[in-house]
Amino acid sequence: MKKIIATILTSFLIFGCTNKKAENYFESMNTFMKVQCYGENAEEANKVAQKYIGELEATISATKPESNLYKANHANGNQVEITQQAADLINFTLDICKKTDGALNCCLYPVTSLWGFTKKQYKVPSDEEIARLMPLTDFNNVKLNGTKIQLLPGMMLDLGAVGKGFAGDEAAKLMKEYGIKSALLDLGGNIQTIGKKPDGSDWTIGIKSPFGKSPIGILKINNQAVITSAGYERFFQDENGKKYIHIFDGRTGRPVENEVLSATAICESGTYGDALSTSLFVMGVEKSIDFWKKYNDFDFIIITKDNKLYITKKAAKKFTLNYDDYKDLEVILVK
Ligand code: AMP
Ligand code: MG
Repeated sequence: MKKIIATILTSFLIFGCTNKKAENYFESMNTFMKVQCYGENAEEANKVAQKYIGELEATISATKPESNLYKANHANGNQVEITQQAADLINFTLDICKKTDGALNCCLYPVTSLWGFTKKQYKVPSDEEIARLMPLTDFNNVKLNGTKIQLLPGMMLDLGAVGKGFAGDEAAKLMKEYGIKSALLDLGGNIQTIGKKPDGSDWTIGIKSPFGKSPIGILKINNQAVITSAGYERFFQDENGKKYIHIFDGRTGRPVENEVLSATAICESGTYGDALSTSLFVMGVEKSIDFWKKYNDFDFIIITKDNKLYITKKAAKKFTLNYDDYKDLEVILVK
């Protein structure tokens, strides 16, 4: 008994001294972010993470003139020098562009701009306008040699599909350097976790529903990222009420029109998860399943317009459906 009390006291002392909590809310990358972490240096780690995410935005944003990406996009076909960090991210992204056979395409900026998504001045362009820009969207024309990058004149990179996931990864890395072993980073709905909750249990992550207000369910995870791409995030409607979403099909130069409402990727790396969430959305259910079977290094939840939720077997073990609110949803186990 004495031993038990001593153990409890000791853990309380250690826990009490070292497990301070810090929580920060801020705006970055055009979205609200919340970082919550535990540890002796929690306050400092949080501050550093927030500052870092702000600086990262200034490196990989396509719209900020001081960014690496902006420099490359406005070089008129000339070679420019970028940071190692930006080069690594572009390299990684190009690799997924190839692996997904162009479902992910980091060179769609000219067409997403044409549709007004980059400045929120939306319009439906003509077929001719789109066709004229399509040759500028071939990611095979990005020449990256170490930290030197060269695009064809008029080509423009957009890392919007991977940026927040990358920010989560990098901020988490930094926080670990400050001794943080338990943290939850919510970067505009993109979740990155470090370790488990301080009490040793998993983090509970609500998965947004594309159908209604209450979450479609919850996922219990640790040490992983949970990243969702969804049509409800950003879209506009034409005069007939037709919806055009911010995720584009690189083959057509148009917003994706398929059966998917939202695609969530679950894996350790936020960057990979972010690249995947967008890719899965574009690929649709069938191709996503093929891709998952081929690489088998992530899990997913895809919700479709016909009221189905596809979930891979490992994710299903960690997922609880909000049955009360979504009784009609058909859950399909992918194995
Ligand atoms: P996400 O919310 O991670 O799916 O990223 C969507 C953002 O990535 C969009 O707002 C665009 O900036 C960009 N984007 C749109 N379609 C694609 C695509 N097929 N591949 C890569 N980036 C895209
Ligand atoms: Mg993404």
